[in-house]
Parts: sequence; structure tokens; C-alpha cells
Amino acid sequence: VHPTAARRPHAITVQSANTSYSDEYITASYQNRGAEVSVSEGQYMIKPTVQSFEFQTRRAPSKTGLMMIGLGGNNGTTLCATILANRHNIVWHTKQGIQQPNYIGSLLRASTVRIGNDPVSGKDVHVPVSDVLPMVHPNDLVLGGWDISGVPLDKAMDRAQVLDYDLQRQVAPHMALLGKPLPSIYYPDFIAANQEARADNLIPGNDKQAHLDHIRADIRKFKQENELDRVVVFWTANTERYSDIISGANDTADNLLASIKSSHSEVSPSTLFAVAAILEGEPFINGAPQNTFVPGVIDLAERHQSFIGGDDLKSGQTKLKSVLAEFLVNAGIKPLSISSYNHLGNNDGRNLSSERQFKSKEISKSSVVDDMVDANRLLYKAPEVGPKGVPVGKGEHPDHVVVIKYVPAVGDSKRAIDEYYSEIFCGGRNTINIFNECEDSLLATPLILDLAILTELLTRVKYRKTSTGEAAKEFAPLYPVLSLLSYMLKAPLVKPGTDVVNSLNRQRNALESFLKACIGLENNSDLLLETRIW
Ligand code: NAD
Repeated sequence: VHPTAARRPHAITVQSANTSYSDEYITASYQNRGAEVSVSEGQYMIKPTVQSFEFQTRRAPSKTGLMMIGLGGNNGTTLCATILANRHNIVWHTKQGIQQPNYIGSLLRASTVRIGNDPVSGKDVHVPVSDVLPMVHPNDLVLGGWDISGVPLDKAMDRAQVLDYDLQRQVAPHMALLGKPLPSIYYPDFIAANQEARADNLIPGNDKQAHLDHIRADIRKFKQENELDRVVVFWTANTERYSDIISGANDTADNLLASIKSSHSEVSPSTLFAVAAILEGEPFINGAPQNTFVPGVIDLAERHQSFIGGDDLKSGQTKLKSVLAEFLVNAGIKPLSISSYNHLGNNDGRNLSSERQFKSKEISKSSVVDDMVDANRLLYKAPEVGPKGVPVGKGEHPDHVVVIKYVPAVGDSKRAIDEYYSEIFCGGRNTINIFNECEDSLLATPLILDLAILTELLTRVKYRKTSTGEAAKEFAPLYPVLSLLSYMLKAPLVKPGTDVVNSLNRQRNALESFLKACIGLENNSDLLLETRIW
């Protein structure tokens, strides 16, 4: 068994008055340190702040199902086949030799965190991220879902042309046991017209309320039949066009529910799936770029305290951009333009060759450098301030262009070409060119696993404030929009009114800090004071 796929018992015990263990829970107290800043006449007045919290994590992972919308697509079939290969330890021949299944590319299963030092050698000690708190093992996820294409999953895997033939040959009988996807909702106005030919597995009719009820019943049935505690519902179907936000139609939970009842034309299939999951109290994650989470959905998730996360998997080009743009700006170098071209030849690329669906992707790819630019007003001019003290526009920004082309010959192997053109010292110029080539679905699949597994974990974590002078409150669940998932997402959805963090490093730090806080540890300090003093 490959080390990333190995099963390990929860192997960490924190010995501290801040952390206690019962059979059911890990409870930890945590000091959240920050600083309040006020600016007056060019002077920054800074007051350090401390808030006390307690986190309570239920230790036993839920028996979890993963229901994907788009199950028969490249991501859906690749995810199922690779889990089955891991579960049954199927090894296969490639032209390089024997290949073992693994979970490389998963932050949870294949990366580590620094947890402290060995007191004798002084060396850092690292543990797998998945050891920090008890998490569902990917092999244990119960798989299911929907697709508008009724091709059985063994044949759909073959259609996807992602996995090596020898793996497909061996895993096909297991895939065949998963049968065919459940029929789904198809409103041709939302995805590209070129998808119509595969839409042969549909829930009949045009009544959106009946469609919602149907999906809710599917989730309940899947949960009962497989004796699950939790079902994560995951959109990995084709990118839809944006929905118009219409006041009175999808701006509040009640308006959205009424619009579903009246089969309003702006309610998309993905929004219906999100509403179904929320009403069933199960988490919903959006792996594609469209605005599934219209304001009415967020309102509904808040009302039902049901978890949601999105948007769009951050697999290749954008992931690198969220590292490289930050590196340049933090190095004091000023990117003037970032130009990104992609071509790909899979069905996702085919769908994105249609203008309205491309638009969704363009929007999701384009905001990724905003926070880095906003954080450095030495390099980029701040927005002008309007009459009421409100900033007008976004201020100075690098030119940023994104192009996607459909080139069938390259199949699932996406090519991404990026040029970073920057101003350097005293009028100099620097150009960095990147050519990135990778099987798209093999980048995306581990992200789907991480998102599903982290989401399940976050449903088991509760918190309460314990600041002195206040009566201890009941433990409460986290806020429904799971911004802690941002590392895996291109256009992270965050709590309304709070800032989006796109920087990959900051996103990882947030996750690491949170997991450690749940066991009562402070985040890694790169201060490494012991290495700086006598
Ligand atoms: P794909 O075209 O191979 O699969 C999508 C599947 O969704 C198809 O089988 C299609 O029949 C099905 N589908 C379409 N509308 C549906 C509906 N209403 N209900 C149920 N099923 C429906 O695409 P893919 O490569 O698997 O990508 C899936 C999604 O993930 C796309 O939206 C893509 O933009 C997004 N994404 C992929 C990556 C990546 O690296 N692969 C990265 C970021 C985002």
C-alpha cells in the first residue's frame, strides 16, 4: 500500500492543560491573537487583541457518502476509479513499469505539517495532515450521484480517456457495479448547446419544485440505503452560464423558494441541487465556476445552518498564479500584465468553447490577484476616494487576460501558457513565461477528495467563546460558508462582508492553524527563536 493511501490510527496526543480527550470529543482552548488598527493623520495606532475560544471536535468520522453531480464525466469517473483502485489495491502496468495506486496531489493525504521539534536533536517533526485530527479515509467514501448522461460508469470511464488502459481494464468490473448515474435535471439554457447529445438520462418535466423534491428524495434514499451519517453533495458537472441576480426572484431565501415553486427561468440546475442539499441538512460544494450560490442560497444555508463551499476547483494555472503573483508583489516587483492562455480537448473544454459558459470561467479565474495587489499600495495606486469617503473603483491593477480554447486532439491534457510581465528596478522589465501541461482530471480528483473530507470534518467541529466575564455559551457549529476550503478553490466563497484571501500560502496557513487550534496548538512559528539566540 502506498504511504499516501495507508490507514493510520489517530496518532497524536497533546499533553497540555489546554487540550482534553474523552471517548467522544477532543476539546481544546485557543487564544486568537490579533491587532486592532486605527489610522489618524498618517499614524497607525495598534492595539493587540486576544479572544479566548474553545473548540470541540467529535472524534469519530461520520460514515460519509459523496454524491457527485456530473458523476459520469471526467472528474466523476476518475475519482470513482482511483478510489476503487486504492480500495482494492489494484496495481497496473505502464510503459514505465508497475504503478501503484496512491493519493498524490491530495493536501490531506500526501502533505505534512510541522508539529514541533524533537527535544534531543532539535530537528523539526512533521506529520501527515490527515493525522492532525481524525478524518474519513478516502477509500471509505460511499460513491454515487447523478448525470444527464446515462452511460454506465465503466463505459463512462472509457469515454473519458484519462486513465491508463491496464488500470481501466482491471477496475472496469468494479466500476460496472456502481451502475449508471441517477437521472438529473437538464435545462438546456444553462450549459452549452454542444452537450445536448449526451443528455439522455433526465428527470422528466419542467416543474422545478418537483425536480427539487426528486433530488431531495434521492439524497435521503442514498443515505438510508447505505446507512450513512453524512452525504457531501458535490457539483462536478459542466460549467453553467451565470444566473442573473433578480431582486424578488433569487435575492433572499424566501424569494428563491417561491421562484422554485413557480419554475422561474433563472433558477439553474446547480442552484436546485444546492437548495436540495441545504434542505436535507447535508453540505454542498460547487466545483465549477458558475454563481450557484445566488444570495438566496446563502440566506437559506444560514437559516438551516447547513454548510456550503465553492467555487471552482483550483487545480493548475490559477493555483500557480496564486503563488507567483504573491511572490512577485511581496518581493516588491510590480506585475504590469498577466496573460493566460489555455487549451484543452476534453468535454469540459468543449462546453467552455461556448461564450456564456466561458464567461463564468473567465470571471472565476480573473479575481485571483486582487488581494495581493490591494495589499501593496506602494506599488499600485489606491482607488480614488469619492465624496462620501467611499472608494471609487478598484484602484490600479495589472492588466489580466484569460483565454480558453478547445483543441480536441490534446484530450484531457490541458496546456496553460502564462506570461508575467513586470516592472523592476529603475524602469527595468522582467518577463516570466510558464508552460504548464497536465492531465486535468488527475489534478482535479484529489481536490474533490480533500474538499469532501475536510467538509465532513468541519461538520464535526464546534466552537464557543470563553472570554472572561462572559457566561459559557453552548458549543455552536461554524459559519455555514466554509471559507477554510479556499486552498482548493479558484474563486473562494467567503462570509458576506469579509475579504477573500486568494494567496495559496495564506490559505494553507489558515487551514493548518485551524486544524492545530482544534487540538490546542499554536500555529507554526517561523520565528524559530531557538535558532536565533545563544
Ligand atoms: P466533463 O464534461 O467530463 O463532466 C461533466 C459531466 O457533467 C458530464 O458527464 C455531463 O454529462 C454532466 N452534466 C452536465 N450537466 C449536468 C446536470 N445538470 N446534471 C448532472 N450532470 C450533468 O467535465 P470535467 O472535466 O469532469 O469537469 C467537471 C467540472 O469541473 C467542469 O465544470 C469544470 O469546469 C470543473 N473544473 C474542472 C477542473 C479540472 O481540472 N478538471 C478544474 C476546475 C474546474
